[in-house]
Amino acid sequence: GPIVVKDLAEQLGAKATDLIKRLIALGVMVGVNNELDKETAVIVATEMGAQVEERASVEEREEILLQGDEDREHELQERPPVVTVMGHVDHGKTSLLDKIRSTRVTASEAGGITQHIGASVIDWNGRSIVFLDTPGHEAFTAMRARGAQVTDVAVLVVAANDGVMPQTIEAINHAKAANVPIVVAINKIDLPDVNPERVRTELTEHGLVAEEWGGDTMMVPVSAHTGEGLDKLLESILLQADIMELKANPNRAASGTIIEAQLDRGRGPVATVLVSRGTLRVGDVFLSGSVYGRVRALINDRGERVKEVGPSMPVEVLGFNQLPEAGDDFVILEDERQAKSIADARASRSRQSSESGSRGVSLDEFYQRLKDEAMQDLNLVLKADVHGSAEALAQSLAKLSNDEARVRVLHIGVGSVTESDVMLAQASGAIIIGFGVSIESKARQLAEREHVDVRQYRIIYEVLDDVKQALTGMLTPKF
Ligand code: GDP
Repeated sequence: GPIVVKDLAEQLGAKATDLIKRLIALGVMVGVNNELDKETAVIVATEMGAQVEERASVEEREEILLQGDEDREHELQERPPVVTVMGHVDHGKTSLLDKIRSTRVTASEAGGITQHIGASVIDWNGRSIVFLDTPGHEAFTAMRARGAQVTDVAVLVVAANDGVMPQTIEAINHAKAANVPIVVAINKIDLPDVNPERVRTELTEHGLVAEEWGGDTMMVPVSAHTGEGLDKLLESILLQADIMELKANPNRAASGTIIEAQLDRGRGPVATVLVSRGTLRVGDVFLSGSVYGRVRALINDRGERVKEVGPSMPVEVLGFNQLPEAGDDFVILEDERQAKSIADARASRSRQSSESGSRGVSLDEFYQRLKDEAMQDLNLVLKADVHGSAEALAQSLAKLSNDEARVRVLHIGVGSVTESDVMLAQASGAIIIGFGVSIESKARQLAEREHVDVRQYRIIYEVLDDVKQALTGMLTPKF
């Protein structure tokens, strides 16, 4: 007999929107609640079903193979924290990183060369901290947008003479959206007439309350110029790491993330891997995205060749025959044939998906997802022409939350929609609402490529209407 579109989608384990798109391609115009005759259902089910099943099984098998066994509690050991430095331009991110890196060079090593591999290991009081070398929330969120979260702790640099600025707020919101805890470095305290208290007060307005004031954010006054307070900062980072109980099993095949990749003139493709668990060794067979190979050499951040590295450690890997991409996963496998077959399958899948492509969320699809899973967050990034209207809009939107769906505003900003907004939206499955603002052309391109829904409005009630309708399944889909 006839079958309702949404039921068929459920039986196929497909999204109703995908099924509807497929039906439209077949010339059948229907909505989720319409009935299909048997013939049409069979045709579309065969087309979709075969595809759905094939994909699921290949990807599931791959997943199981690549994940390996779960680690048991007693196998886990403490691992160093991985840190990203963020903050407003000119507040001293680069200077702070440089100063921290220079302190690790002990007298005997003086003159030792620092190799740029994308991350640096700082040894301090017998423990290690890993700093990612590219500061800024843009780099941080770009990695997340590719599905990788390598940062454990964000150090937010705020210049004491300047205070909280727009990119300070962006950084806070990007870190929060990723659930990464923040340690604040109040920088430039060597300048005359600066007042760290003012920075603490301003940060409170953005939800970061200093420990001294009964909150849970560590805030350390520092100077990247004189080095004052840096010990305390490193100590605070380690304290934060202790709270998080960062652990990994070093006694297993390694896996991690590519944090940098480049074509080196002499050595060909090289990439830095940040090991997340296990121990990576020379000779291991690896798979990264759709690239595979064997580890020929490992070089640490001090330019030394090493035989193996453990969890949280960054290391340059030689042995790639193609360039992997930053943000890709990196996994060690038992045998090269297996690595090759998964690499090939991934390559053909990525060709397919870049043709059909659908990664971001759209407001049109939101209700569909809401029905598929229980409680959902509708994540929003808000950009408005003036601060007042952004705040008012955010408050009104938050009030639209109901029992099934919660409106969560990840970031409110003033000015046009930027690439950084699009990346945040993509990494967090958010929709961008531009209120009386334009979209930068690069941001538009990125949004189109990554299927991030950017909506522009000039009238408040239209925003509220659309969001309300998306929350209740009333939004008329635009295909
Ligand atoms: P970034 O844009 O956040 O990476 O900031 P930079 O590290 O490039 O620093 C911006 C400017 O602030 C430079 O002129 C630095 O010399 C200066 N600066 C950075 N840290 C300090 C500090 O602790 N004290 C003083 N007085 N100046 C600093």
